[in-house]
Amino acid sequence: MGRVITRFAPSPTGYLHLGHAYAAQQAFGYANEHGGICLLRIEDIDHTRCKPEYTSAIYEDLDWLGFDWPIPVRVQSQHRADYACVIDRLNAMDLLYRCFKTRKELPDGVYRGGPDPDEAARLKANEKFAWRLSIDRAQAHLGESDLPFSDEVLARKDIGTSYHVACCHDDALQAVTHVVRGKDIEPLTAFQNLLQRLMGWSVPEYIHHKLRLNPDGEKLSKRNHDTSIRSLRAEGYTAAEVLDMAQPW
Ligand code: GLU
Repeated sequence: MGRVITRFAPSPTGYLHLGHAYAAQQAFGYANEHGGICLLRIEDIDHTRCKPEYTSAIYEDLDWLGFDWPIPVRVQSQHRADYACVIDRLNAMDLLYRCFKTRKELPDGVYRGGPDPDEAARLKANEKFAWRLSIDRAQAHLGESDLPFSDEVLARKDIGTSYHVACCHDDALQAVTHVVRGKDIEPLTAFQNLLQRLMGWSVPEYIHHKLRLNPDGEKLSKRNHDTSIRSLRAEGYTAAEVLDMAQPW
């Protein structure tokens, strides 16, 4: 295999905290140990939650922690057309359908649907819709059966794309060989592998690391300012001390 390429791909929805410091250390560390490189990618397609000031803070905090990365950094919000192309391609393969339902209208558990019987009228009324992947059609396309997935949304009503599409597209585009990310995302990996196979993208290796939880065993939140890297820095901790604090127990 060629050179190892990993990536650290935070979303600028708040300030980075100790959990991110550990995640960054895992992604950059894996690349270093294997003579590879780690890319930084800003996953900011969700304009309802991401803010430019948090993007600037990501650069600043990671730099202060001692990480460095190749430039230019891929900032997903600048590449919406790429993600629209993925949706177009899946549509050309006839693997998607329009879904007008709201979250409340969906049943719990695995969801399998299909085109809305009133689609023409709803389109005429300019109702917003999401594009969902039809697992039935995806199975037929791959000649497989019994795939245990829901018909996931690949293009959200509000942002026109989805985390799955942007993330897998970019991992392929950036030739990421090893995705090093937290165990919290592990349940999504099998679905992302399906998307990669449908798109003919190579499937990277996945390494899901432990999470740095708080003492109560809960995930750290970006709303919990106590553990933000910048507040620890302002309190006078050094980068080495912050990385030390970031280790999971
Ligand atoms: N942007 C995602 C997050 O902030 C990470 C995605 C990934 O590593 O695949 O949680």
